[in-house]
Amino acid sequence: MSETAVAFGIDEALEKLGLNQINEGTSTGSNNFSSGEAIASYSPVDGALIGKVKTTTQADYEKVMTTATEAFTEWRKVPAPQRGEIVRQFGEKLRELKEPLGKLVSYEMGKSYQEGLGEVQEMIDICDFAVGLSRQLHGLTMHSERPGHRMYEQYHPLGIVGIISAFNFPVAVWAWNTALAWVCGDVCVWKPSEKTPMCGVACQNIIAEVLKENNLPEGISCLINGDYKVGEMMTNDNRVPLVSATGSIRMGKIVAQAVAARLGKSLLELGGNNAIIVTPDADIKMTVIGAVFGAVGTAGQRCTSTRRLIIHDSIYDQVKDAITDAYSQLRIGNPLDENNHVGPLIDTDAVSMYEAALVKAQEEGGKVLVPGGVLEGEGYSSGCYVKPAIVEAENSFQIVQEETFAPILYLMKYSGSVENAIALQNGVVQGLSSAIMTNNLREAERFLSAAGSDCGIANVNIGTSGAEIGGAFGGEKETGGGRESGSDAWKVYMRRQTNTINYTTELPLAQGIKFDL
Ligand code: NAD
Repeated sequence: MSETAVAFGIDEALEKLGLNQINEGTSTGSNNFSSGEAIASYSPVDGALIGKVKTTTQADYEKVMTTATEAFTEWRKVPAPQRGEIVRQFGEKLRELKEPLGKLVSYEMGKSYQEGLGEVQEMIDICDFAVGLSRQLHGLTMHSERPGHRMYEQYHPLGIVGIISAFNFPVAVWAWNTALAWVCGDVCVWKPSEKTPMCGVACQNIIAEVLKENNLPEGISCLINGDYKVGEMMTNDNRVPLVSATGSIRMGKIVAQAVAARLGKSLLELGGNNAIIVTPDADIKMTVIGAVFGAVGTAGQRCTSTRRLIIHDSIYDQVKDAITDAYSQLRIGNPLDENNHVGPLIDTDAVSMYEAALVKAQEEGGKVLVPGGVLEGEGYSSGCYVKPAIVEAENSFQIVQEETFAPILYLMKYSGSVENAIALQNGVVQGLSSAIMTNNLREAERFLSAAGSDCGIANVNIGTSGAEIGGAFGGEKETGGGRESGSDAWKVYMRRQTNTINYTTELPLAQGIKFDL
């Protein structure tokens, strides 16, 4: 255990999460099927080894599928409100373990401790939501055109839901899916990111305990570990009717095709390229807070991170000066230390992508306003700490069109009406989150109208970053079109059935068709 890990209580956190024995690659909880080569998890905070987790071989995967399939036959018979009770207990366990789990998220992924706690809070919130939902899996009733008939729709569980998640939300995305899927009567098989495997085992340990305490089959929640090859076992598997995949657009295109080829369902939550429009009527102070948090929070590694600031030319210099001034006050360093604003990138590959993007932006004609760079020396030994950068750029630059998962903010001007800004904001392939800063009601409503933002999330006087669990979360275009979390997102985890019941002694056909025998 490194000095930093000891100083910030990581050893205690691992112990509370039941992870203290997995340093040699032995796995715990329901993960005991994994017998393949171990993945070592190194912290981007200080480069130290946190632990090793064994990967899932094809033979291990078959055992997992058998366990999950058997568990489903039991779980689907449990009444939905009783399934909700299990999710309630899971939420309670998360409340007890919020601090150690938040700390592990921070140490393994590199986001601030506050954000790590926030991520666990999202898990708790979705559990609360799912508990209420377990009594509200409503279908519609409709009037039959035939006398003495009744028609209604009901929702049944799908079966095994496969979850593939990204490194940047190593625990919350799993809970967004599982809390809903479980109350819907599904069982879940999760492949966390190979970059955050310890978070996966920690979550599995927590739910495994709840299931054990309730004498429920372990297979209701299964964990498989490894890289894309393990993910592909699920995407190609007919026994998995729904694959919920969160990650890059590149990954989503491969997963979507594999699942579609077997006519399965996929729920895709992919990359964003999110912009804030700043109009002449914007509150500049609020704009600066929203834009800086959006661009540098989680070191620019949120799917909803602010990547572009589209500013009206009449206030461009004022906003530019205020933002660059705010950047000069940013403290970069250990994310477990609450005095720091910006932590590390996930690994040195991400650092290389950040450096390459800054070079490319300049090659395409971008002007650097706040220079980036990799930090070295004491406190930066992992090699993953970079300076948040700001570049003046054109929306048409190829590099601006891409999502670089790092703290690089592109500033660009618009002139004339808000429609010109909306055209720039929509002028990318991604469609996740968007925002407008304005006190002008007409501009705000035009931004929210059918001719406005084309994103799954459109905010007024709030930045692009983060979302509450109560709304459906997801994005359009190459972001994949999936919706998770609140509202009626639960419907994707169920199959819909239309039922018609005849309580007469006649057999009338629909549409007045006669068939006399
Ligand atoms: P990634 O695409 O590299 O990996 C994501 C997951 O997909 C990992 O578990 C990985 O092992 C798996 N995977 C990769 N290729 C696969 C394949 N061919 N078949 C099956 N599984 C495969 O993404 P990342 O670097 O971990 O995360 C960053 C990306 O995730 C960003 O683009 C970000 O915007 C996106 N993201 C989106 C959302 C959202 O809700 N829209 C949320 C978080 C992250």
